[in-house]
Formats: sequence, C-alpha cells, structure tokens
Amino acid sequence: MTDSTNSEINKAKELTRKGYVYIAGAGPGDPELLTLKADRALREADVILYDDLVSPDLVEQYGAEKIYTGKRKDSHHFEQEEINQEIVRHALKGKTVVRLKGGDPFIFGRGGEEIDTLRKYCIDYEIIPGITAAHGASAYTEIPLTMRKVSSSVAFCTGHPISKIQVPDTDTIVYYMVASSVHDVLDAVAAKGRSGQTKVAVVQNATRYNQKTFTGTLDEFRKREKAVYSPALLIIGDNISQFIENNWYSRKKKVLMTGGDSRRYSTADYIVVHSPCLQVAGADLDNVKSSIECIDDYSMLFFQNKSAVRYFFQHLFEHGRDVRHLAHMSICTSGRAAATELLTYGIIPDCCLETDASVGLAGMLRKAGLEHQHILLPGSGNADDSIVGEFRDAGHRVTSLGVYVHGPQDSGDVIDLEFIDEIYFSSPSCVKRFRELYDIIPSRIVVTPADYPTAEEFLNQFGRSGS
Ligand code: SAH
Repeated sequence: MTDSTNSEINKAKELTRKGYVYIAGAGPGDPELLTLKADRALREADVILYDDLVSPDLVEQYGAEKIYTGKRKDSHHFEQEEINQEIVRHALKGKTVVRLKGGDPFIFGRGGEEIDTLRKYCIDYEIIPGITAAHGASAYTEIPLTMRKVSSSVAFCTGHPISKIQVPDTDTIVYYMVASSVHDVLDAVAAKGRSGQTKVAVVQNATRYNQKTFTGTLDEFRKREKAVYSPALLIIGDNISQFIENNWYSRKKKVLMTGGDSRRYSTADYIVVHSPCLQVAGADLDNVKSSIECIDDYSMLFFQNKSAVRYFFQHLFEHGRDVRHLAHMSICTSGRAAATELLTYGIIPDCCLETDASVGLAGMLRKAGLEHQHILLPGSGNADDSIVGEFRDAGHRVTSLGVYVHGPQDSGDVIDLEFIDEIYFSSPSCVKRFRELYDIIPSRIVVTPADYPTAEEFLNQFGRSGS
C-alpha cells in the first residue's frame, strides 16, 4: 500500500470518528417551506443550532438538543466565531449537528465562514439549500422577480451597513437587512438615476401569519416618515403588481390554535398559527409520586399531547423508574405529535387515535378492543375534565394526573391579534392562560371552543360566548 493510500485511509477513519454537520436553510418563516431534505436532517440530528429567523415552533418538533444562537434578550448572545466553535465542539463528540439558518445559508447567511471552520477541523458536512426570503416574499405577495417585457434581471443586495449599499443596474433589486435603512437605500437608488415613479414594496415578515406589505413609488416612500421594518425586504422594480394588497396569501384565514390538534384546520384553507398557551414543568408532586409508585395498578397510559409525554417521563425518571415499569400497560395517544414524542423514549404506542368527532376518543378505544381500563391520564390536571368524563361514561376508571401547568409566556412570542381571524381554544386552562395575556379579543375574531367546558370558561373570562 502506498503512503498516500495510507494517509487517505487514516483520514477516512478520522472522518468516521467525527460527527457530521448539515448547514441547512429553514426557509423564510412558513414551516411548510422547509425542504424534505432539511426535515430528514433535523430528524437525524443530535443537536440543532438555530438562529433568530428560524421559528422556534419549527425546531420544537424535533427531538434533538436545541441551542438558540440568536440575539434574544434573555439568552446568551453568540458571536459568529463562538457559533463556529460550538458546531465543531458537538461534531467532535461524534454528534450529528444541524446548523439551521433562516432562508438559505448562502444568501447573507455566513454559511461560508462556518464551512471554512469545518474544513479546518476535517469535519464532514453537507449543505442543504433553503428558500431565501426574496423567493418567499415574491411568492407570498405576488411580486414576480422577473417578468417578460418588464423585468429581465434581478439582484439581491444588502442595506447594511449603509456604507456597503450598492445599486446594480438590474430591472428588479431586492434589498435584505433594511430594518432601519430603507430611506438610505432609496436615496442611493434615486441618486443612481432611477425614476421617481419606480414601484417600491417593503415586505415585512414574509410568509408568516403577520406578513405585511407596504407599497408606493420611489418618490412617495422617500417623503414618508422613516420607519423601522423588521425582518423586511425592500423590493424595487416595475414588476410589483397591482394585486399585491389582495394576494392569495392575504386572502387565507389565519387561525390561532391554543394547544390541540391543528389538523382540524386544513392548511389548504387556513394558515395555522400556534398558541401562546405554553406548557411548562410544574406538577402536583404528591399525586405524581403516588401514581408512579402505584403504576402497577393501572392498565393504560393515555397521552393527549407531547408535553404530557415529556413531563410524565421526566417525573418517571426522577422517581427512579424507566420504561420497563410500564411493560404491563397499553399505551395510547391522541394525535401523532404525542406518538412521535413517545418514540423518542423507545415506545411505539399501542394505538394513536386520530381526532374523529363522530365516535370520540372513548369510541375509538372501544374499536381498538380496549374496554374497562384503569387509565392514567397525564396532562395539565384541571384541563382534562371533559375527556375524563368521556372515558368514565364509557366504563373506564380514570385518574387524571397533573404533570405540567400552563406557564408564563415569553413576551416576544405573543401573537399579534391584528392578523388573526379565528381562535381555537383547546381547553378551559388555555382560555384562562389567554385571558392573562389579552384583555380583550376583537369582536371580528371568530372564537371556537373545543368543547362545552371550554366554551363555559370562555364566557366566564371574556363575558361573551364563543361561536
Ligand atoms: N439567509 C437569509 C437572510 C439572512 S439576512 C435568507 O436567505 O433569507 C437577514 C435578512 O433577511 C433580514 O434582515 C431580512 O431582510 C431578510 N429576511 C429574512 N426572513 C425574512 C422574512 N420572513 N421576511 C422579510 N425579510 C426577511
């Protein structure tokens, strides 16, 4: 064997010992714009390092350890060099790492710098493209970036820093990073001799539920007061269509789900926005302890959502038990999210009930041959009255066990009701939680309670009935 073959083999061995890194784009906001390949990588990942522009809702769906590398006030602020080192640190431990970035990693994404570091450490990697903000904004506002007879070229530029603003000679120009520099960019464009009648659009929060578009001409925008738009793109060019105000995306109904199963709203008709009804650790510890000590008395574990799974297992482990202590039980879930969460503990549920209002959960259990069970129902305790009643009426014995509570909300995540058309309340405790965050719900918003107790709580809290 030659020396060079030997060194190749040694290098290959070294590579196999190290982890693997995906530098992946998450798209501009709408979680459905993630590629299948990025989804596969995220499912494989041991560690996900994600940025500000990546929706936490998206990352939340994956089982990996999540590290936020953005600039939220309450978190440690990572400089780029620190992020590079963090990727390397996990990869050198043999982990599969996904470095998830907003949009596309190679469009103003600093993906190139991360790759330089990986090369230096001989860590193997691949790059998964994402839908960049310009493409998302273009599709979701009906602004074609090129258009026969109107625009035959397009450039992507940056509005930050101001000293780097360029005005290329293309028909369409898309500026990224214009939060506070829209006027500087427009002045530069005018100075380059573009007509004051050139059309201009600012697209804020493209592809998200709160997407907002401002349009006008170059002259009009320059006369407007300076405004901060974030995250936003500035698009310049005569391809900006007149349909923009009433485009396909703005016509979709936006429904806010406070918990529950979002599949009841088809994504063909609705934009589903997830809830501020957070579930956090906190439990009735005496009850948890005694239920876990008497786990042999139960014949079934029923999980209504993935938080119930997560917090139940946290308590189980804290009490020195593991999955072997559940071997005698049937384990069922309502909905796939809880079933997927169970898999991370090595458990395939005996049945995963899909929501079907016509038979109800108890009816579906009967169909699965599960009758007269002694059910342990981990959840938020007080939120589960209706399901407890349903199971009892069907002849089961049920013990509801509070393993989490509805907790405080990060103010950054509060949903702006200005953009919402309908709110779905999944339980009375979500109504209570919502009331702490919002004094009123505008009357134009349709309110849909999941069941009678939720409707009653809504009436209590907001003084009007749901619809
Ligand atoms: N790699 C990203 C861009 C990162 S730079 C991509 O390919 O999209 C950050 C800038 O991207 C923001 O300042 C803003 O100009 C733009 N941006 C990202 N997401 C956006 C969104 N949903 N709506 C509008 N602009 C967005």
